[in-house]
Amino acid sequence: MRIAVPGNVKFVLDTLCGAGFEAYIVGGCVRDCLLGLPAGDYDVCTSAQPDEVIRLFKKTAATGIKHGTVTVIEDSTPIEVTTFRTDGDYSDSRRPDTVEFTNNLKADLSRRDFTVNAMCYSESAGLIDYFDGLGDLKKKTLRTVGDADRRFGEDALRILRLFRFCSTLDFTAESHTFDAAVKNAYLLKRISAERIEKELRKTACGKNPSAILPLIDSGILPTLSANRDISKIPLLPEKENLRFFAFLYLQSDDLPKLLDYLRCSNAFKKYAADLSSNMNTKAESREDIKRLLSTLEENVFDLFALKTVFSGENTANAAATAKEITESKEPYKISQLAINGKDIAARGYKGAQISKVLCGLLERVIAEPELNKKETLENLI
Ligand code: ATP
Ligand code: MG
Repeated sequence: MRIAVPGNVKFVLDTLCGAGFEAYIVGGCVRDCLLGLPAGDYDVCTSAQPDEVIRLFKKTAATGIKHGTVTVIEDSTPIEVTTFRTDGDYSDSRRPDTVEFTNNLKADLSRRDFTVNAMCYSESAGLIDYFDGLGDLKKKTLRTVGDADRRFGEDALRILRLFRFCSTLDFTAESHTFDAAVKNAYLLKRISAERIEKELRKTACGKNPSAILPLIDSGILPTLSANRDISKIPLLPEKENLRFFAFLYLQSDDLPKLLDYLRCSNAFKKYAADLSSNMNTKAESREDIKRLLSTLEENVFDLFALKTVFSGENTANAAATAKEITESKEPYKISQLAINGKDIAARGYKGAQISKVLCGLLERVIAEPELNKKETLENLI
């Protein structure tokens, strides 16, 4: 079993080994490489203590030093190097109260969540796999390292990670792991909304987002209900915000409340509000499309994708028209009018009246673009 390790990561491993320490790539990158997928980040685990890691490399950042993690920057790429460790007791279902460094690799691998995430590799040692992660990888199975009930009780984030990996890898949870995850779902209330949001985003963008339905069914995530079909999300273009919007929109009974609960960014809230308020707006005439463009701008293409995938509407013509309008700079928004607020104010209008006049003029220009000349608009006021 050989994994092609990128040059800068190999340099980190070789440097640590050259200084007499053990060092391996570990976790998600090993899993992804074995699956033939592009690995996100390469994480390294080592028997070297953090201060030794800092000493061995030119450029480091002591990012998570309390937990044994030093970020080594090689070829401008950050590589997280973490000292072998064991986790102490968990009293909050999220973080170990203490962590202890060890030079026992197996102890480090045992604290990891799933067997497929608990393998490590180096060129000299080959694949080290104490929990048959490779077997589970071949069976497309997610199984906790050790007793599932205890592992989810220690850290409830693992429950979300389980369903997230089921979606992104299109794997199935082994039955004990699945049962324990659903049984412990109530512990998710201890997980911060930001972490939940991150995991749900990744779940939404996976190959099989429906894998999370049993968790949604447990009722633990407010306003989400599992009785809606989200299986078509993977047919949408690969845009994270679009897929995440579809995931929430399709399942939520109260989208604004859910977005607040998940502490989504204001930009995402606006995106979601604009799309959801136009899901049933018709996009037939050129004027319809210009009105949609005036609120949605380029997100109008996301709306068309949603309409096509979820309502079976043919939006190819509408998309072509929208493209033509934006490329030819045919006016559809107030800032494109040949007249502005100041011009209107100069004619004695004030405050809200000004925007009312501008909106009225825009309506006329949307219907007849040739009216968009300063003199013509002045006469129209
Ligand atoms: P991805 O990077 O695609 O999200 P990953 O598996 O690499 O997936 P990371 O959050 O980067 O996830 O974590 C790296 C490794 O650390 C994991 O593969 C796993 O071995 C371990 N790990 C991460 N989070 C947990 C956790 N909550 N409990 C136990 N082990 C964990
Ligand atoms: Mg990772």
